[in-house]
Amino acid sequence: MTVRITRLAPSPTGALHLGNARTFLVNWALARRQGWTIRMRIEDLDGPRVRPDAAEDVLDILRWLGLDWDGDVLHQTTDLAPYVEAMRRLAAAGCAYPCAATRREIEQAASAPHAGEHELRYPPALRPDLDRPHPFDAPDTNYRFVVPDESIVVDDAFAGRTTHRPYDEIGDFVIWTKRGAPSYQLAVVVDDLRQGVTDVVRGDDLLPSAARQALLYRALGAVEPRWCHLPLVIGEDGRRLAKRHGDTRVETYRASGVSADRLIGLLACWSGIVSAPEPMTATTFRDAFRLDRVPTTPIIYRSTDHAWLLGTS
Ligand code: GLU
Repeated sequence: MTVRITRLAPSPTGALHLGNARTFLVNWALARRQGWTIRMRIEDLDGPRVRPDAAEDVLDILRWLGLDWDGDVLHQTTDLAPYVEAMRRLAAAGCAYPCAATRREIEQAASAPHAGEHELRYPPALRPDLDRPHPFDAPDTNYRFVVPDESIVVDDAFAGRTTHRPYDEIGDFVIWTKRGAPSYQLAVVVDDLRQGVTDVVRGDDLLPSAARQALLYRALGAVEPRWCHLPLVIGEDGRRLAKRHGDTRVETYRASGVSADRLIGLLACWSGIVSAPEPMTATTFRDAFRLDRVPTTPIIYRSTDHAWLLGTS
């Protein structure tokens, strides 16, 4: 039997909300039902928004919900050597080049591109002469990945097959930032490779990123993992769950006295386990979970859900 490994990869930005909690719970349940190994990775390279102490807070919240994982927690910032090594290989293979990008571009590159966040396409005309070598010798410079002009098919266990055109959507994207650190796209691939990840489960706003990451896997001579992208939780206004929908952080509900069982009861309703929320433990959620029952359309967080959590409806 082949070993399957997934990962939980929270960004310690202090905002684990109900939508994130639902993705983590589904990822965990899917893994635990099928005997996959679960790695924990703190994505503390993910952008300028990272708050000190937030890593411990996010782990604490996930434990409180009843989730667990196997082995040590990997903090990305502990050791940058694996990313540097990948950069050297990509540059030596002619797949990367240095570029003087703007501050805004770097900030966008540093964090995972989520729905509703505007992306700039880098014009191919700005590429340097790729017949010349561009070694990775200036880590305080941005480097871009040479994106081929081709369509990439992402074969997803939940979302099905989708076709992407990274060349047209984003162009040569940043893989190393002049802050001296890898971008989200490179870090996630290097980490998934070194953690032996075979199965990536996350929100479907990262589907276009799967195509970009597939290109990086290929350039590094590796095989991409199995993908499983789930619909996001959105607000009643149709937009991705965020601050504008009020304070939907798990931490805030916990501080208001909402139990983990009640919260999981709502997530169970959002995951096709029950038709109306009812309190349950993470273990009960896991035992009842079926991927083919998860709704394929975005889940709407309604004011009635908030009232149910607080026990006022
Ligand atoms: N830390 C990333 C995020 O919160 C995870 C992205 C991924 O799973 O690849 O968006």
